Amino acid sequence: MYIKFPGDIFLRMLKSLIIPLLTSSVISAIGALDLSLSKKIALRSIIFYATTTVCAVVLGIILVWTIKPGAGGPKDIKKEKHDPQKVVLTTDTLMDLGRNMFPPNLIEAAIGQGQISIKVPDQYKANPRFSNKTFNLKDYYPEWEFEEKLELRSTNVLGLVTFSVVLGVTIGKMGHRGQPLLTFFERLSEAMMIITGWVIWLSPVGVFFLVIAQIMDIPSFAALLGQLGLYFGTVLLGLFLHGFGTLSVIYFVCTRTLPFRTIAGLSQVLATAFGTASSSATMPITIQTLDNMGLDPRVTRFVIPVGATINMDGTALYEAVAAIFIAQRNGLDLGIGHAAAICITATAASIGAAGIPQAGLVTMVMVLDTVGLPADQISIILAVDWLLDRFRTTVNVMCDCLGAKLVDMLSATDLRKMGDPDKVNADTH
Ligand code: ASP
Repeated sequence: MYIKFPGDIFLRMLKSLIIPLLTSSVISAIGALDLSLSKKIALRSIIFYATTTVCAVVLGIILVWTIKPGAGGPKDIKKEKHDPQKVVLTTDTLMDLGRNMFPPNLIEAAIGQGQISIKVPDQYKANPRFSNKTFNLKDYYPEWEFEEKLELRSTNVLGLVTFSVVLGVTIGKMGHRGQPLLTFFERLSEAMMIITGWVIWLSPVGVFFLVIAQIMDIPSFAALLGQLGLYFGTVLLGLFLHGFGTLSVIYFVCTRTLPFRTIAGLSQVLATAFGTASSSATMPITIQTLDNMGLDPRVTRFVIPVGATINMDGTALYEAVAAIFIAQRNGLDLGIGHAAAICITATAASIGAAGIPQAGLVTMVMVLDTVGLPADQISIILAVDWLLDRFRTTVNVMCDCLGAKLVDMLSATDLRKMGDPDKVNADTH
């Protein structure tokens, strides 16, 4: 409890910055750009994010098929439960994404009214509480031994980003009449960055205590070494190959430079991502660090919030590996059709996952559903998920940063034509 305390305080400080920082910086960044350039930046980042996520899933599938970490394991479900004909895509999770983009009430969106759909196993369907989609999974699956932090209510970042983009575009279109509003949000964003700068000073201590508290709380190291060890190693290898291999190749193809110096400059961001296991909580530090690295704030203010919400390569890779691992453990032979379905659902599940600890574990239920596995099978991988979560969050955030750097490089000429980037980020450092 005492060791957790400093880490908790650090996490709370970071989280408190998310909403004011996110809204003011997206509004001021978009408001200061012309529409055609905003469109280009949005398109470039979305293409980069989509390409890298699909590559991550494919890499995960190849690795788990080659290494077969689940082969020969104890069968946890009875064979007859599996119906290979039944390939259900949980489109509802994707539709949730659409719903979340348009929150009916911004205050509610800010205090945590995002939605997540999961496929409810038959035995739980009778429970009337399932009609409400915003719930804490732990209440419904007490036997799964979820940790306290597995809370589904999270700030609807996507909804806030969408609204901020629309407001930014409108302010930009209003011309000089929109100027007072733009100035207000620019100054608010500057103030938030100054506060972020202070919080960054605490990050080494905060991250240290967060990690130490978790290590002291480890349910079982034996699980890491036993059958889950190979699964753990497969995900880790995939994350490593994706982070330093695939991403570097894509980055090199687009920019003709290698990203390693950029990655080296991100050490504090990556450590925070590891410590907090949350892309959203890391966001203030991510934006601040990229600003310090000289990226145009008009790019980072848009690309990073969007990336922290929808771009989760590490999560996508992990979801694919975990689903196939569970299928292997249960002796299910998955064909190429299943692999394609897993590819689509793992991508969707990673986009739908919020940037909070272990969100990917929850959205993985839809990937399991794709191959006809019952949702409660995720309990198999629970023992090591807290640690994998930290690694995959680190890769998620790294990919967001490389996306921002790449878009910044590709948009440099256009941005230069538009003039002074400090319009958005007056010298705050
Ligand atoms: N914790 C991850 C993130 O915030 C999401 C997940 O994979 O659970 O990026």
